[in-house]
Amino acid sequence: MSSKNVIESVYEQVLKRNPGENEFHQAVKEVLDSLIPVIEENPQYVDSRILDRIVEPERVLMFRVPWIDDAGKVQVNRGFRVQFNSAIGPYKGGIRFHPSVYLGIIKFLGFEQIFKNSLTGLMMGGGKGGSDFDPKGKSNNEVMRFCQSFMTELCKHIGADTDVPAGDIGVGGREVGYMFGQYKRIRNEFVGVLTGKGLQWGGSLVRTEATGYGLVYIVDELLKEKGESFEGKTVTVSGSGNVAIYATEKVQQLGGKVVAMSDSNGFIYDPQGIKLDTVKQIKEVERKRIKEYCTIHTSAKYTEGCNGIWTVKCDVALPCATQNELDGASAKALVKNGCKVVAEGANMPTTPDGADIFIENNVAFLPGKAANAGGVAVSGLEMAQNSQRYAWTFERADAELKNIMVNIYKNISSAAEKYGKKGNYIVGANIAGFVKVADSMLAQGVI
Ligand code: NDP
Repeated sequence: MSSKNVIESVYEQVLKRNPGENEFHQAVKEVLDSLIPVIEENPQYVDSRILDRIVEPERVLMFRVPWIDDAGKVQVNRGFRVQFNSAIGPYKGGIRFHPSVYLGIIKFLGFEQIFKNSLTGLMMGGGKGGSDFDPKGKSNNEVMRFCQSFMTELCKHIGADTDVPAGDIGVGGREVGYMFGQYKRIRNEFVGVLTGKGLQWGGSLVRTEATGYGLVYIVDELLKEKGESFEGKTVTVSGSGNVAIYATEKVQQLGGKVVAMSDSNGFIYDPQGIKLDTVKQIKEVERKRIKEYCTIHTSAKYTEGCNGIWTVKCDVALPCATQNELDGASAKALVKNGCKVVAEGANMPTTPDGADIFIENNVAFLPGKAANAGGVAVSGLEMAQNSQRYAWTFERADAELKNIMVNIYKNISSAAEKYGKKGNYIVGANIAGFVKVADSMLAQGVI
């Protein structure tokens, strides 16, 4: 069978086994398509059915999460943990609380996580979890009761050497704290079972900033290779959550000007440059909507609808909100306005046709599994510090993060070049992430 036929038959099986899970299909297709040259050179991957095995999670957990709201009513949500691949380390990946969560989203994220974690160079397998619970509009007590119920089941399946969850959309320091507390209470052990913890109880400095900072470090490395820098560049950043805020902070530190940010309702455009302290106050402290920004800074304009952000003229675009937020039409608008670099802070924010448009038009496109790996990388460093019972300084953790991002850039560039796709970082990231996992699976036998 030709390599193309092998890929097609694996993909058909994925469609058959996972009906209706569109995001998972999309993520698998993108990875499989870019692996053709690797499997041509490595027939042992086909003989040992590595592809058929890598698309099948090692374990899928789905459970009831009952909790009581402030009105005394019983509520029921659904919880998930997909333990996808443990070939190179314990399962590692975030937990997402958002009403859109269902099994297909968690599988897509868990699958991507395998390759992302491999790219960091640290010993971490791939996993992901979450719930269709919506923390928006809930009181602290409701969030706490939900997190406790969620962890009451999840704690049977995770552990510092088994599976180490972290935050994601809707899960920040508050939620990690409630989940960690419940784990400790039930298991009676103080271990590094979650990352993204508070600094007084085992968290790592730089974890909060890691994904956003890491994203900007990898773009900076790419710009350096072209003899450029962020100095004087105009940048748009979608979202206004954890990743978006710290990406904006680092761009500003490096001399770039961020002119637009968004949330799920709309976007703000401030031609004078976004005042990040205001965004932090609105989103991190008050948990309000981004449009509030314009009541404070009258130079800024708010537009309803989040896709419009991609019509803002920029040199660098950083999608940092959610999956499939940047489609073909938005990609065309960015190209037309002269955008030269797009790097994904979010997971799979660009649709496949959007990514094709960037590549056809020579826009340097860094996919999420490489560009946003800084978060999980510092989570890996948090695990290392927990094992040592020791906390590093901010400078040390930040230097390690930067080093990891620079290495990721080098590895994905050279993998793309080696397989005849110079400058195609999607192919480079998929191949560089895959080979290490595939070789480890081969070495460990048919399991
Ligand atoms: P947050 O919950 O902190 O922020 C998410 C942001 O995206 C919010 O501004 C939210 O707006 C916006 N958003 C959510 N859904 C939509 C939508 N449908 N359309 C437009 N905007 C939307 O999450 P994070 O910043 O942590 O995560 C953002 C992305 O980065 C996700 O894809 C996540 O998987 C990925 N990521 C995160 C990492 C991390 O360390 N945090 C690590 C690697 C990847 P609103 O306030 O209106 O909900």
